[in-house]
Amino acid sequence: MLNLVNYLYIISAGLFVLSLKWLNSPVSARRGVFAGEIGMLVAVTGAFIQAYPVYNLEWIVSAIVIGTAVGIPIAYIMPMTAVPQRTALSHACGALAAALVGTAELYQRQPKAAEELSGFVMVALMLETLLGFLTFTGSLMAMGKLQEVLPQRPITYKNQNLVNFFLFAIAVVLAVRLILVPTDTYLFPFFALLSLLFGVLLIIPIGGADMPTVIAILNSYAGLSACAMGFVLGNKLLVVAGALDGSSGLILSIIMCKAMNRSFTNVLFGAFGQIQTSTAKQEQRNVRSASPEEAASILESAGSVIIVPGYGLAVAQAQHKIRELYDNLMRRGVNVKFAIHPVAGRMPGHMNVLLAEADIPYDRLVEMDEINGEFPQCDVALVIGANDVTNPKARTDKGSPIYGMPILDVDKAHTVMVIKRSMNPGFAGIDNDLYYMDKTLMLFGDAKGFVTEIVKELPARAAA
Ligand code: NDP
Repeated sequence: MLNLVNYLYIISAGLFVLSLKWLNSPVSARRGVFAGEIGMLVAVTGAFIQAYPVYNLEWIVSAIVIGTAVGIPIAYIMPMTAVPQRTALSHACGALAAALVGTAELYQRQPKAAEELSGFVMVALMLETLLGFLTFTGSLMAMGKLQEVLPQRPITYKNQNLVNFFLFAIAVVLAVRLILVPTDTYLFPFFALLSLLFGVLLIIPIGGADMPTVIAILNSYAGLSACAMGFVLGNKLLVVAGALDGSSGLILSIIMCKAMNRSFTNVLFGAFGQIQTSTAKQEQRNVRSASPEEAASILESAGSVIIVPGYGLAVAQAQHKIRELYDNLMRRGVNVKFAIHPVAGRMPGHMNVLLAEADIPYDRLVEMDEINGEFPQCDVALVIGANDVTNPKARTDKGSPIYGMPILDVDKAHTVMVIKRSMNPGFAGIDNDLYYMDKTLMLFGDAKGFVTEIVKELPARAAA
């Protein structure tokens, strides 16, 4: 029986590794998701066999039924634009589960502490619960910020880093005491409360623009907590799966920090001590706007067009209409490409997923570093629902919350057209200088509606 369980765990671990590998590219991502799902099914089967005869089966089955009944509707109802919040919620639930398992193990094993709670197990248990509890509240905070029920701006106050380090130090002292004397369980509730509080304090000073990286870091913490749980429970698969999750989350967050020119430690510890300048006061400046007819005329006479998609494209679900526009322009001999910014939209790869849904060829999707060199030669940059990722302030304004983030060099194109509904700011809550340039035309309207109008105009103009 043990051999069978080990084989199942090896198959499962292999599937998890393949899953991560396949998730690397949009071409194989679907396969990656299936591999992960099957790996998890094999892992759960192995765990059931290992624990046979399973105690409290009715509780476990009830939890599976409730989880399925909640999970499936959420997956269907949740709009694609809310996937980051959904991911944060998953991390919160996973991390809470790990923390509660650790808590249960401590209290259950405590009467036989001498045999069952060795120094090594206690170190793992403390790490599991610390990371689990702080990831739980941290992920809920990240979810609140992304859902805009909590303020997205960094919340900072004097001596913030000092207060945080002090609280963290107390938690570490309590953990050390519990490792040395596991029977002192009266200390554990204080340790758990401090960990929960630390999760909140860790996220509040981090601004909305850094949320993508924060989600990746929280993913990493949840994975490390599961890895530590594997050591506590003596489950090798949990150790492997948790380590994979922890390390891939960490690597993703470092890659994202590099892509956004952010210091990894700054994102980890937030905007400590910085006083944010208010963006509420915005001066009135004039912009030039144009109709769908004028936009169609400019597009049809262009030799090259770079389409810059952003979050508004996802809100409007305009990807299929954009495909029609792409087909139409390509038929006329216009060279059309798509500029992909690593954090456009609300999750890593958001634009790739949307454009793939509309079957836009992958070779037309060009990453930021590569496409930026093409903007100066490009006749028209057509920005559709993107804002922060095109804001030149990221290059010039040191006081801006997005200063230092690499942007798409849309302002270097010969003509810029921007489809959005109003002059409202994007996620970072700041005005965009691009809109006030002489070469920029604002196309006010819903992305899907406006692109539909342009597509209608194009054949009409050809016939005229
Ligand atoms: P932004 O959020 O900066 O801007 C989106 C723009 O879309 C808004 O200005 C809005 O203007 C417009 N818009 C919204 N709905 C519509 C619609 N129906 N039709 C037309 N336009 C619409 O998006 P970007 O993609 O440029 O930048 C992403 C931002 O999100 C970055 O700040 C990034 O850091 C952050 N972020 C990214 C995550 C990721 O992993 N990718 C995760 C979390 C945050 P208007 O209201 O006037 O229409």
